Formats: sequence, C-alpha cells, structure tokens
Amino acid sequence: MLKLRTFLKQHIVWVGLLAVVVPLISILYVQYQSLLKLEKTSSVADKVWMRNYLADVGKEVKYFYWTNAEQVLNVPPHVVAGGRLSEWKFPFNKCGEEMEGAGRLFIAAFESGNAETVFYDPASNSVVANPHPAEMRAASLAIAPLKLLSAEPGATVTKQLMVFEHDHEHRMILKPIVDDEARVVGVAGMFLDVRFFREVYLPRAVRNSLPKFFPDGKDENVVVTVHDDRDEVVFANGPVKKEAEAVLYLPFVFTDWHLSVESRNMTPEQWARRNFNFNLSLSILMTLVLVGGVGLALRTVSREMKLSQMKTDFVSNVSHELRTPLSSIRVFGEFMKLGRVREGEKMREYGEHIETESRRLTQLINNILDFSKIESGRKTYKFERVSLEEVVAETLKTCEVRLKQSDFQIVYEGTREPLPPTVLDHEAVAQALVNLLDNAVKYSETSTDKRVVVRTGQEEGFLTVSVRDFGVGIARKEQSKIFEKFYRVGTGLVHDVKGSGLGLALVKHIVESHGGRVRVESDLGRGSTFTICLPIRRLGDAPEDEAAPRPSGFDKDLALAMGVRTDVQQHSHHVPLNLPD
Ligand code: ADP
Repeated sequence: MLKLRTFLKQHIVWVGLLAVVVPLISILYVQYQSLLKLEKTSSVADKVWMRNYLADVGKEVKYFYWTNAEQVLNVPPHVVAGGRLSEWKFPFNKCGEEMEGAGRLFIAAFESGNAETVFYDPASNSVVANPHPAEMRAASLAIAPLKLLSAEPGATVTKQLMVFEHDHEHRMILKPIVDDEARVVGVAGMFLDVRFFREVYLPRAVRNSLPKFFPDGKDENVVVTVHDDRDEVVFANGPVKKEAEAVLYLPFVFTDWHLSVESRNMTPEQWARRNFNFNLSLSILMTLVLVGGVGLALRTVSREMKLSQMKTDFVSNVSHELRTPLSSIRVFGEFMKLGRVREGEKMREYGEHIETESRRLTQLINNILDFSKIESGRKTYKFERVSLEEVVAETLKTCEVRLKQSDFQIVYEGTREPLPPTVLDHEAVAQALVNLLDNAVKYSETSTDKRVVVRTGQEEGFLTVSVRDFGVGIARKEQSKIFEKFYRVGTGLVHDVKGSGLGLALVKHIVESHGGRVRVESDLGRGSTFTICLPIRRLGDAPEDEAAPRPSGFDKDLALAMGVRTDVQQHSHHVPLNLPD
C-alpha cells in the first residue's frame, strides 16, 4: 500500500495524465462512433425533410383546388330540373373575383340520356354564347360516364369531386348534381386555368412553404423545380444543376406534373460530412485543451511537491550543517575551559578550529539570510569601484585556514597585467567566491588530487574568476539544474556530502545581479570548473582611464606576500599559493 502511494507520488504527472487521457480518449471514441451514425442519419433525415416539404406543397395545392371546386360547383338539383337550365344567368355560389384558378365553368343537365350543356364566364358572371368547340368537346367527353349513369334506372352516385385531365389543355374538375334519391341529374364543371396555376399559384405555394421547412435562411440552399407533363421546367426558384434529392407528383390536380427539390450548394451528404468534420475537430480540440490544461496543472503540482520535498531536505540538511560546527566549537571550548590544553601550539590549533567552524557557521547563516532576502525581493547590492583581484585575494586569505586544515592546496593564476577595475558589490562577490571554494573543497574530499585552482582573467568585456577542482564532478544532465534553489545532486548516489542546496542559487543570483553569468564545465569523476563572468563597468560617465585610478586598494604587496604572481600570463603555469601563517 505504502509502495503504491510512493509510486503514485513519484509519478503523479503520468498517473494523473493517464487518469484523464484514458477516459477522454474513450469518450472521444464513443463520440466519433455516434458522430458517424449521426452523419448517416442526418443525410437521410435531410432528404426525408425535403420530401415532407414537397408533400406539404402538394397538400396546399390540393386543398386550394378542392375547397374552391367544392364551393363553386355546389349547384343545387333544382337548377337543372325541368329543362330550365338556360333560364339561369349565373347559377353559381361565388362570383368571378372569388374564383381564383378557375377557367370557364359549365353545367350539364341530363334528361332522358341527353345532356344540355351551358358554359359560363366567371370573369363576367354570365353565359358564354359561343363556347370554344375544343372546350365543348372536352366537356362532353368528361361528362359522358355520368350521362350514361343518369340514363341507367336505379343508378346512384355520390357528390364526390372528379378530376378529368385526359385532355391536357382542358383540365377540369367535375361535381355531379344529385337529386334527393342520389340519382345524377346533371354535372357542374370547372376548367382549370393552367396559366394561373403555373405563373401565380405554384410559385406562391412553393415560396410560402419554404421558410416553414427551411428556416433561418436555409431556404437559400434549396432549389425547387416544377416540371409539366412534357417534363419541361415550368417553374424553378434557382438554377437547376444536379440530381433531385426528392420528387413528388402532385396529388388531385395536375397529377402529371412533378415537383423536385435539390440542394443549391451542398448535397445532404456533403452537409452531413461537413458537420461531422466540424464536430469531430471541435471534440479533438477540446480534448487537447483539456489534456494540456490538466498536464499543466499536474506539472505545477509535481513541481510544488518536488519543491516541498526539497524544502524538507533543506531543513534536515541545514540542521545537520549547523550541528556539526556547533559541536566542534563546544568540544574545543570545553577542552580550553577545563584547562586540558596548556601548550601554546595546541591552544592556537584549537582556536583556529573554533575560528574555522564559526566562519562556516557564519557562511551558512549568511547564505540562508541572503537567500531569504532574495526570495522576498529585499536583497540589495552596494556597488563600488574595486579591483576583482583584490576581492579574490582577500577571499582566498579568509578561506586559507579551512583549506589548509583539509590539506587542500590553492593554486592561483592571475594575469601579467592587472585587470581593469570594475563596479561590483565587494561583499557579495566575495560570498559567491567563498561558496564556490567551499563546494570545491566539499566535493573533492575523497579525491587524491587536492588542488583548487583559482584563475582570474578577462574575456570579451568580462572579467572572469574560475574555481577548478579535481573532485567528484557533475553529470552532464545535472549541470543545468544545480543552480536551482534547494537542488542537490542525488545525495548518496554521487556523494554523501551535506549541504543546503542554496550555494549555487545564490552565486547565480549575485552574478546575474551584476549583469554577469556563471557557467560550469565538469566531467563526472574528474572535477569541475565554475566560472564567474562579471562585466567590466565604470562608475558614472567618467572615462575609464581618468576615472580608473590605481585599482583601489589593490595591494600588490599583499598579493606578492600571498604568493600571488601578478605578472603571470593568462593560462600560465600553476603557482602554488603560499599563504602566510
Ligand atoms: P550544496 O549546499 O548542496 O553544496 P550548492 O547549491 O552549493 O548546494 O550545490 C548544488 C549541488 O551542486 C550540490 O549538491 C552538488 O551536488 C553540486 N556541486 C556544486 N559544486 C560542486 C563541485 N565543485 N563538484 C561537484 N558537485 C558540485
């Protein structure tokens, strides 16, 4: 259980991502499948919708002619009774203006197997004196079956409307006139006005239904065409291009005409594919954004966890770092208090130990305090014009005892000419250098080559100080990380030296605050070289030569006394540093 928990903690990013990615991919797959289904059904649905539209237009046409004919042709039997048909001027219920779509009207009165037919003009609501022979022929052809039935004794008919369209030029609707005994005594007929149907009614019916079925401007994508009995286009609301998506022959009247509908730009299949692609892309995009977001959040969590682990390690490391010098100081102090040491030489040695350990303590506490200042943005620098060589010489002097105690030998390499003075924070740069020296010693304790080479120099507008050791070295992949706060190379595996993990972070901050940079070159097992590069700067606007007095406080004598050769060329031979006791 504990193992599992540790594993989850260590691999939180991957476990978290997996926990999100796997369900997301499953959802995406299910969505993909349903989108595929939707694509198929939606194209079918679109076609069904188009068919519904056509059916609606057909129904409208039928309703219009049916109701019109029912009202107009509803002639009572007494109009045709007793051979008095010709006495009527206009025996219809509606007057001309109300009869949209009607051509000539006629009434036939049956009498002993004969028919007397009178034609009327709805425009003038009057009898037509000389009807057109073609109309007369068409009418007698149409009424023939009813006329036969009227002569048939006992034959009954219903008042149902009949459509007669065998003569395409003279289409008509008929309504039998039936007496009380359901015997047909006559027939009322209405020729259909083909021109009105084609030019007025059809376009109106087609356009009226479009927005109902294709709202929000979708009707723009629909082309409706009407073909007549000769398959000629009699009406179209757009350019006719492709195969029709749906076709309907008109019911009731004009039954040999058909309506067809097609998409103007994209077929239903293309629409469905486009929707499919759009929805799938949206889903994929959403998944990617979600995975990215979760990844980012998990990365932050993992970083926070690492940082908190580093902080925990830091507390334990610092406690250890504090305890060691403190116990040394206490032991040496007790020895001296109890008067166990009398000889001057021993006293001096113990005193030296106490001094070194206190320096170590001070260094550690300084690091922690500076780090806390940096973190809270309170760290300030006191820039002044100084000689870098002087800072180096002074720092080496302060570290001398500790180095000597650890049997380390410092080799200092300077340049033949003194380096130009620059503007820097003396104390901060010294602190950075102490940290590098401290590390050089710490991480070379186990090495046989106990040299630390300190070199000053100049490169491309920068003054450089490098500290080289021949210790454990740093693996290439760790080299970029060691400058992060709290970061320590896997303790125990590479080395078991205690430390706070702040030293190099501090060095980096100090150097960068000077506008410089720090770099490391290292080979595992062979040692490392840390190089600080600081820009050559002048105070104010004073030209360098005038404003550059002798390197302020640069004490050549002190350097010489320390064994520093100020005249060596860059990359000269190593010169052992003989620090005076
Ligand atoms: P620490 O207090 O651990 O020394 P630093 O920030 O000074 O913290 O160093 C970070 C890590 O870099 C160290 O834990 C160590 O592994 C590595 N390191 C620093 N200097 C050296 C060096 N001279 N040789 C080998 N490893 C080094």
